[in-house]
Amino acid sequence: MLDKPAAQPSTVRDPRFDILFEPVKIGPVTARNRFYQVPNCNGMGYRDPSGAAMMRKIKAEGGWSVVCTEQAEIHHSSEITPFIEARIWGEDDIPALARSADWIHEHDALAGLELCYNGANSPNFTSREIPMGPADLPVATFTFDPVQARAMDRTDIRNLVRWHGQAARRGKRAGFDILYVYAGKFLGGPMFFLSRRYNQRTDEYGGSLQNRVRLLKELIEETKEAAGDQCGVVCRISTDELIGPAGLHREEAKEIIALLDEYPDMWDLTLSGWENDSQTSRFAEEGYQEPFVTTVKQVTRKPVVGVGRFTSPDLMVRMVRQGILDMIGAARPSIADPFLPKKIEEGRMEDIRECIGCNICVSGDFTMSPIRCTQNPTMGEEWRRGWHPERIRPKEAEGTVLVVGAGPAGLEAALSLGRRGHEVKLAEAGTVLGGRVERECRLPGLSAWGRVRDYRVGQIGRMTNVEVYRDSRLSADDVLSFGFEHVVLATGSHWRADGVGRFHQSPVAIDPSMPVLTPDDVMAGRTATGRIVVFDDDHYYMGGVIAEKLARDGAAVTLVTPALMVSAWTINTMEQHRIQARLMELGVEILVSKLPTDVGAGHVGLACTVTGRESTLETDGVVMVTARTPDLALFHALSARENEWAGAGIRSVTRVGDAVAPGTIAAAVYSGHRYAEELGAVIDPDVTPFRREVARLL
Ligand code: ADP
Ligand code: SF4
Repeated sequence: MLDKPAAQPSTVRDPRFDILFEPVKIGPVTARNRFYQVPNCNGMGYRDPSGAAMMRKIKAEGGWSVVCTEQAEIHHSSEITPFIEARIWGEDDIPALARSADWIHEHDALAGLELCYNGANSPNFTSREIPMGPADLPVATFTFDPVQARAMDRTDIRNLVRWHGQAARRGKRAGFDILYVYAGKFLGGPMFFLSRRYNQRTDEYGGSLQNRVRLLKELIEETKEAAGDQCGVVCRISTDELIGPAGLHREEAKEIIALLDEYPDMWDLTLSGWENDSQTSRFAEEGYQEPFVTTVKQVTRKPVVGVGRFTSPDLMVRMVRQGILDMIGAARPSIADPFLPKKIEEGRMEDIRECIGCNICVSGDFTMSPIRCTQNPTMGEEWRRGWHPERIRPKEAEGTVLVVGAGPAGLEAALSLGRRGHEVKLAEAGTVLGGRVERECRLPGLSAWGRVRDYRVGQIGRMTNVEVYRDSRLSADDVLSFGFEHVVLATGSHWRADGVGRFHQSPVAIDPSMPVLTPDDVMAGRTATGRIVVFDDDHYYMGGVIAEKLARDGAAVTLVTPALMVSAWTINTMEQHRIQARLMELGVEILVSKLPTDVGAGHVGLACTVTGRESTLETDGVVMVTARTPDLALFHALSARENEWAGAGIRSVTRVGDAVAPGTIAAAVYSGHRYAEELGAVIDPDVTPFRREVARLL
């Protein structure tokens, strides 16, 4: 069955979005519209400054009127090794940051620098300085570091204020238009002083709210002094910690803002900590921060920016019209689609590549690797590979391409090959497109993941040089008879049922009378009832979400994992605690550090991964969530007939996505995109295929 191209979208802005394109004054500088890319970590920082700068330049090109850096550590006495952020410790750091400011300016955007003193959140593993905060307390890092901060005395506070001023002056010299004072998410150190929990000091910097805001006031004043009439000063603050009255909450945050309102030029509102601020779509809807910021503007005369994974222009308009926000802040929506503002401006809603709220971008920072994005495969590759989210170089030579399989890898390959001008046919065995995304987005909480399919199917649908064939399971005979020059096998993978994964390299003994399912079976609607063991040796989301689904469907679920916690890798997407809490609320029993040794009739044998102690768990069935096997039947059939390729006009057969090695959806999209980028290019396998900046020797 062949899909016909759909009508082309309009290119005229809808007048109801005009309000989003009004200028906003931020002290002495003016943002030309309301689209504000808030500071966000990206795993590039001081190590990959040109990579970070090019990523920001492209956002400025895409229409964001303010583009900010991630946190820039202002002084060596506060750094968050091993995380890779920007640094502005001294003069030597200016050129790297100036590159960001310069490149942002090339597209008439304002460049913002998030000055940051982490304080009681900085382990200082590089500088080996003793961290400083309001009190003698262990550092509040994600990684429970065995480091304790010391309480600051008056000299320390005077020093900190001076350091902030010095860093602000360096930022101004680097060319930034906006300088931050960061007091949010317990990443910006002054928040520890704002917090009643952390700040139990008895001097003029502790106790009453008036005293607790004193340090922040002094930092803003000093930064304003440095900024002069050249830069706007933005204060980033958190309005709620989501722990009730014990934590900072909206009404207290409003009191802080009211007390300090005369000092900064703008307020940037977040939730605290980062895991609350950047919640995934599995746990929070678009606009989820609204209740925590909704009345803040009652107490301030300054403009306010806030976030909430905004991708819907109508919601953005409502935020402004209802006086909740003045500027639409975005980190993730700007990562998934750096051209979001431009597309709204040009009335190209259908072209918006909406964030799916998966936090793979966050995992870049958590794994100290350059940022990546499930929806935008060019993210983090702008400088080092020269990729652009909206443009791809035209094809080098004629070449028809057959893409087999319309999962994320095949869809992205077909789309990007089509954009390069190739004649492409995309054949999919199933009736629906999307592959694993089509299946997974029907699991609890993952519906937004369907946007990976929707964006690509929508784009391909309007291309005349990409034809889509559904219900077309291709055989080697089919492929050899078609006469395409390049064949891309994006045939995906399937979950194994034999227990092989990280811990078991050979199959687990399974009694044939026992129902043993895989996630594919569950997603295909095979029901599992009664007592079910979910064995999770995958450790990303699938084990947890399958347990959630079965529990919701009425099974008595026990999740068994050799890790120390449920869905352990989701620490990197900041969801682990929420996943575990949800399973516990659903009554799922969780057994950690346990490994199935065998699946017998009516039971599973378990071994403790720490002690080796063995036990038995009665169950009516098992779901194995361990590893996947690439689907290579077509690849092997074609490989066996390689001598026929030339006669059939085939010049290359290449696997992409999960058919090479099953991984994340982001990896599959990247793989499909990379194929399209590299078709026709001469790749030297002996040479690193991307640019990098190597440390300068002194
Ligand atoms: P990836 O994540 O790599 O994109 P998926 O598993 O999501 O992989 O998608 C693979 C897609 O390939 C599935 O939709 C599947 O139906 C399709 N497919 C597999 N084998 C064939 C084939 N021989 N012909 C056409 N489509 C195929
Ligand atoms: Fe959104 Fe996921 Fe991309 Fe992050 S990685 S920007 S959450 S789609």
